[in-house]
Amino acid sequence: MSRLLDHLADLAGHRDRDALDEAVLGLIDELICPQYLAIHRTVGSLEAPRWLTHVFKRHHGEPHRSYDASRDAGPTVPLESLPYHLACLQSGEIVRMSEAPAHWLYPLQTDGEIVGVLEVWQVNAPTQEESRILGAIRRYYRHLRGLLDENERDALTGLLNRKSFDETFVRAAMQLGHDVPAPQFKADERRRALRNTRYWLGVVDIDNFKRINDEFGHLMGDEVLLLLGQIMRHCFRHEEHLYRFGGEEFLVLLSGDRPADARQALERLRTTVENYAFPRVGSLTVSIGYTELRSADTPSAAFERADQAVYQAKRDGRNCSVDFDRLELEQPLAEPANTGMVEFF
Ligand code: GH3
Ligand code: MG
Ligand code: MG
Repeated sequence: MSRLLDHLADLAGHRDRDALDEAVLGLIDELICPQYLAIHRTVGSLEAPRWLTHVFKRHHGEPHRSYDASRDAGPTVPLESLPYHLACLQSGEIVRMSEAPAHWLYPLQTDGEIVGVLEVWQVNAPTQEESRILGAIRRYYRHLRGLLDENERDALTGLLNRKSFDETFVRAAMQLGHDVPAPQFKADERRRALRNTRYWLGVVDIDNFKRINDEFGHLMGDEVLLLLGQIMRHCFRHEEHLYRFGGEEFLVLLSGDRPADARQALERLRTTVENYAFPRVGSLTVSIGYTELRSADTPSAAFERADQAVYQAKRDGRNCSVDFDRLELEQPLAEPANTGMVEFF
């Protein structure tokens, strides 16, 4: 009983989604003792989503997170390759894959959508009591996820908010320089995870947004912000993090091997926006500034650098992207001040 209370307290205390998923598996393991448990989520762009086994746990084993939210460390598979899981996700119904061993899939819901699929393997079919427990845990999960989303997301666009930026940023920055992938990853995954240790922060600012508000009204302006949030989701892969920083400024935290990767990803966003026909408003553009994360960086220091690059992009005529790090290199060294005075010692 006290372990159960520990689990419940653990569950309610979590302030990030990944840890909540792990805690849910811990609680189910404690109460139902299945052979295997997993939570699958869809990741990737909206056009080409893929499955990721986000976290799994064997009975009494430690939960394994196959994907760290701040980098691409877990393998993904196409949605069609897990048709039962897909049916569960799309229908929102419980799906039974096999009777013996009992292998069932349960949708995990928030108020607005189905956010994942819970997979449970047991020797025998769940008893009535076990089904009741699973139902209660799923309802509790829904409640807690709702609270997390309220806290972490921007209400207009559904993107992460400024507060969650600070938290993810610190996690990403902490990995710089001492990135050791967990031992459960296979050799190639470890290599891949090790390679992806560089991060860039991009600031995306809508050009002449004030004009849109002035000409079409604030509501239309909000509609544009919402659409830009959707375009950003389409443009980026799952390991990237997207935030609305307030106003008409958006952030992207992305990982890659080379500065050219960051540039390419951000340029793809810029040209997609440029070519998008916004209802009534027509076309608009964004200016983007970006910078590589440095060890011992702080969220505000990195933001400041990327923001300076945005200003440069505006000065360069808008609708372009500027790399702060290149800007810094290209800037001529300041000439030593020549006062014309000669000092004798
Ligand atoms: P620039 O190309 O230099 O970025 O010009 P701009 O007009 O986009 O930039 P400026 O900073 O002068 O104006 C930003 C405007 O964004 C001012 C403000 O009214 C509007 N804005 C800020 N937050 C919101 C919002 O939540 N909704 C709407 N509709 N407008 C907003
Ligand atoms: Mg701005
Ligand atoms: Mg602007």
